[in-house]
Parts: sequence; structure tokens; C-alpha cells
Amino acid sequence: MRCPKCGFRDDKVIDSRQSRDSSSIRRRRVCLQCAYRFTTYEQIERSDLRVVKRDRTHEPFDRRKLVNSLAKACEKRSISLVTLETAVDEIVHELETSGREVPSAMIGTKVLEKLRVIDEVAYLRYASVHRRFEDADQFVDAIQALGRRIKPNALQRELFEAEMAQQSGPSPAAAGARASETKI
Ligand SMILES: [Zn+2]
Repeated sequence: MRCPKCGFRDDKVIDSRQSRDSSSIRRRRVCLQCAYRFTTYEQIERSDLRVVKRDRTHEPFDRRKLVNSLAKACEKRSISLVTLETAVDEIVHELETSGREVPSAMIGTKVLEKLRVIDEVAYLRYASVHRRFEDADQFVDAIQALGRRIKPNALQRELFEAEMAQQSGPSPAAAGARASETKI
């Protein structure tokens, strides 16, 4: 591994440990020329997992994309990157054990299961973007699925901020959120 500091091509591994779920190995290395220390991660390459989209087209599964969609839903919430990465690892593991082709809807459902536990606002944001509630009742159902542990007013404000940051025109989800204001 080329030293990121001096470019020397030889190093020594000084520490090596597995991630909690044993899906990756983290190695601490030291450059044999300048003694700079750096870290590398080793993971199994999963090129076989494919996503079947709603329109039946396929595309290779992209872990980065999944991390980004979760990170977007969690924007401005105090959720650590480690929490998100762990959730993504768990989702990927579940997808891998369910077969080579996974419907995009299945990924969405798994993300919602994780976010529901991690953060309620993030859960509803993700649901409103990816589920496209058809009416206010569906939105209320999603909130009720959280077990009414939330303060609707605080939640609404955060959701609207997220919606407004995301788009200009009204979406079915935004309409649902507005309509549900009087119901909760
Ligand atoms: Zn070096």
C-alpha cells in the first residue's frame, strides 16, 4: 500500500482487527520510509447483489447510495456516522442473505425498520420521500406506527423544514403532512 504522505511503496501492518460483525478488517500500517501511520479497510467485494427497481430494470447494488439516502433523512439530527454505517451494514447483510436480486421496495422497508428505532423524524422523512403517501391517512398511520412517542408539533416543524429544503412544489407527502396537522 502506497504511503499517503511520502508515496513509498512498502509498509508494515502494526495492528489488525475485525469489525464487530466480522464483515471487514481494519489494518493500521506504518510507512517503512517516513514512519507515517495510516489505516486501510478490507472488505469482501459484493458485485453480485442486484437491485430490481419498480420499472423492473436492474442495477448493481450501491452501498454508497444507501448510506447517502440514510444520511439525507438524518440531516441535522444528532445521529453519528457510526450508527448509520452500522445500520447499513446490517441492511446489507440482510439483503445478501435474502438472495442475489433484491426489489428496491425491500431495501426501503429495511431502511424504515432501522430508522424507526434510530430516529423518528428521520424515519418519517425517509418514508415521505420513498413511500410517497397517497393520502393523509397513510401519513397518520406512519406516525402511529411510531407508537405516539413523538411531539407532533416539533416533528411537523422539522419535517416541513426538510421538505422545503428539498423541493419547491408541493408533493403528496407534504400535502399529507399538512392535512394530518389537524388530525393528530
Ligand atoms: Zn511514507
